[in-house]
This record gives sequence, C-alpha cells and structure tokens, in this order.
Amino acid sequence: MTSEPLDDLEQRRAELYAQLAGTGDFRPGSVNETWRRCGKPACACAQPGNPGHGPRYLWTRSAGGRTRTRQLAAAELDKARREVAAYKQFVAVSEQIVQVNEAICEARPASAAGPGVQGGPDADEQLGPLIAGLREQMSAEIARLAADAARSLGCGGRDGGRRDRDPRRDAEAGRLDAGAAAGR
Ligand SMILES: [Zn+2]
Repeated sequence: MTSEPLDDLEQRRAELYAQLAGTGDFRPGSVNETWRRCGKPACACAQPGNPGHGPRYLWTRSAGGRTRTRQLAAAELDKARREVAAYKQFVAVSEQIVQVNEAICEARPASAAGPGVQGGPDADEQLGPLIAGLREQMSAEIARLAADAARSLGCGGRDGGRRDRDPRRDAEAGRLDAGAAAGR
C-alpha cells in the first residue's frame, strides 16, 4: 500500500470522502427481535415449542459505557434497520479513510509539507485564502489596538511621554510585521 503513488492515494481518499458525505442518517447499535415468556403456567407460551410472546423489536446500543435499549414501533422498524446498517457503512468507510490517510502521510515527502498541509493540496487551496484573510484581519486589528494604546499613552505625557512611546510603538510595529512575514 505504501508503494502506491501519492496521486492514486489522494484520488482514493477523495472518493472515500465523497462516499462518506453520501451516507444517510445513521445510528449505532443493533435492532433485535425478542420473544418472551410471561411466566404464567397456563399461558400458551409455557407450552413446549411455543416461541413466547412477541416479537418485540428493540434497538440496543452502548452509550457512555452503558447499554441502552428502546423498543421500536413496528412502523419505524425498517427505518431503524437502515440507519443501523448505514452506521456500519460509515464506520467501514471511516476506517478506510484512516488507512488511506496513513498511507498518504507515509508517501508524502517531508519537503512537500508546508503550513496547513494537513488537508492536502485540495483543502489547502480552499483554506489558503481564508487563512490569509483571517491573518490580514488580525494584523489590521492588532495594528489598530496598538495605535489606540499608543495614542492613549501619548495623551498622558505630551512632550516627554510622546518621545518615549514612539520608538516603542515602532518596535512593536516592526515585531508585528516580522511575525506576519514569518507566518507566511
Ligand atoms: Zn405467556
């Protein structure tokens, strides 16, 4: 698997993601049919060969370490069975996605890695402008806050104060620029 070309792996991953997106409603657990004996000796269910009262349909799943059960109405039985099957499908596709991602991580050379490369080139293309936009907004906001702070400090100490503050504000602005440049 690790010898598979990176392009093929990425193509397979894209297909799996598409498959995952097409999963319908799903829920974990299982749907079971149960029959029970009421315990009355005179009841038909006490006779040998009688399956007991039923069927009752139960949806059972574990949640937070506990097993929870709910009886299903006959009308929702088919729906619940589909949803439980869809969950198994979801888990199977998810496992394949983990495997193909692992193979992609192994196949992708370290030199190809850049900032935000986790999602691969496709995700990067979409996220790139978004991240750049956010970074720009944040830089502008930080610059505005710095200017506000400098202004309010400057107001306090007119002459001497202003001359003391300005170099510090310049240094601050320089650091912000350097930080933004390094982040690119
Ligand atoms: Zn009975």
